[in-house]
Amino acid sequence: MTAEEIEQLVRPNIQSLSPYRSARDDYQKGLLLDANENSYGAPFRNQLNLHRYPTPVHQELVQTIAGWRQVEPEQVFTGVGSDEPIDLLIRTFCNPGSGSILITPPTYGMYKVSARINDVNVLETPLDASFQPDTRAILEKAKQSTPSILFLCSPNNPTGNDLDRTSILKLVELFPGLVVVDEAYIDFSRQESMAPMVRQYPNLVVLQTFSKSFGLAGIRLGIAIAPVQIIEWLLKIKPPYNLNKLTAEAGLEAFEHLDLIRFNIEEIRKERKRLADELGSLGSVEKVWPSHANFILFKIRDAEQVWKTLVRKGIIIRNRGNEPGCENCLRATIGLPDENDRLIQALKEVAP
Ligand code: PMP
Repeated sequence: MTAEEIEQLVRPNIQSLSPYRSARDDYQKGLLLDANENSYGAPFRNQLNLHRYPTPVHQELVQTIAGWRQVEPEQVFTGVGSDEPIDLLIRTFCNPGSGSILITPPTYGMYKVSARINDVNVLETPLDASFQPDTRAILEKAKQSTPSILFLCSPNNPTGNDLDRTSILKLVELFPGLVVVDEAYIDFSRQESMAPMVRQYPNLVVLQTFSKSFGLAGIRLGIAIAPVQIIEWLLKIKPPYNLNKLTAEAGLEAFEHLDLIRFNIEEIRKERKRLADELGSLGSVEKVWPSHANFILFKIRDAEQVWKTLVRKGIIIRNRGNEPGCENCLRATIGLPDENDRLIQALKEVAP
């Protein structure tokens, strides 16, 4: 796709929008009596001047993320989790009522929910039996129905596998719209992030998050990495102060602890292997899918019953049996070693 073609996908009402200019867009220093903040201060002491609004874009955080992912700061958007850019992309590129996205179930649920909230149609081309995208079927559907965005998730939630890189690249090259590759779990995989490829492909968007490998789900910090043209649209329509100061500070602080983050990723990988082996040795478990994420999908006899019994025992995993291709499948997050032991022990009792 060319940059001109991308521009044509932007909703007409967004094209003609005059974005809200917040007080902090214009001035950040001086006698600040422009934003109706509380001049008497926050009710407790803090280093961050919490009585002042945050800056609309947290430059230092954006630059740090850009350096870490080997892209330019102008190619980085920071949001309230990666759920925020999912919504903003749909709101920029899909017309309510008539527009559509294409998803490849089984996949992460928010693409569909966000689309539906925005009254945008959801087209589906299921992953094949090995949970890989069916490129031919996707391109065929795109020809018939012209969805504006294709959402791919790699490693995929809930199946855990990496999507085949050659298939993704083929789709980026041939899909007549944006291709969003959600890399929420990429750091648990051995695959490299596709983020640097946004330099080559005007229609590629890569989503990442601090909620998984960084262990910071509570701060709600997500990232979209995309060509500057797309980032500029997201910046135009985002709420003025989407990221708060505490989140931005915690996000920056994470980069002082990359060694621990890497260490924990390795521990999770080791436990993933152990849990997969243990699950595989249970007679009731019919299949364990190879995972490149921090969770495992497995097929078990009477999954619904097993799941309910685990819940009664206070062990909460996810029943994914309603997703296409996931009949009788449960999804378990990799826990600490003793948590994984408890899960295995409970499964041995419930479904030996
Ligand atoms: N993408 C995928 C594939 C996910 O599994 C999740 C969370 N479960 C998200 C995005 C959203 O992550 P967050 O909003 O916490 O960044």
